[in-house]
Amino acid sequence: MQLSKEPFITADDLGARIRELATGIDAAFSQTTPVLLTVLKGAKPFAESLTKKLTITFDTGTIQARSYEGTESTGNVEIDFNSKATVAGRHVLLIEDILDTGRTAAALIEHIQAHNPASLKIVSLLDKPSRRIEAVNADWVGFTIEDLFVVGFGMDYNQNFRDLDDIRILEP
Ligand code: 5GP
Ligand code: MG
Repeated sequence: MQLSKEPFITADDLGARIRELATGIDAAFSQTTPVLLTVLKGAKPFAESLTKKLTITFDTGTIQARSYEGTESTGNVEIDFNSKATVAGRHVLLIEDILDTGRTAAALIEHIQAHNPASLKIVSLLDKPSRRIEAVNADWVGFTIEDLFVVGFGMDYNQNFRDLDDIRILEP
């Protein structure tokens, strides 16, 4: 596996698109104080960039799901839930790095729904719709991409490359 020399999505393009997402999310939650639940570890840089650009008030929490080994999802999703704010009766926005098969998001949605939120919406920085197995979709998507394995801006390959400030392709 080899990292592409050129960025697939540059840091500038990420910043510009995240600003557009923030505008839409500000509008959608202008009348409420949502709970923003960041999916660790991959969505952390995206969530940090996004929340800096939001003008609404919000509470935060994190949720961790482990399903990947190498470049293949194992399909078993383990969930670790950590929110200072209770989710019951609250408007929740789940912040994801990438929707691939949809298995992780489906498991997270089921888990969060069990806590009876007032509503649940999803923002995903990236979306690979061609890979979908579970019928889940994000309310906001940063970039729709083909079936490529990408790293950087939080996304890893066996815990490597998370610190890149742009997104690159990992080529076989
Ligand atoms: P899913 O359960 O939708 O198949 O996978 C979701 C999770 O798998 C993502 O949140 C992410 O952690 C990981 N994942 C899926 N595709 C990629 C990819 O192209 N690159 C990286 N680094 N992780 C991915
Ligand atoms: Mg993830």
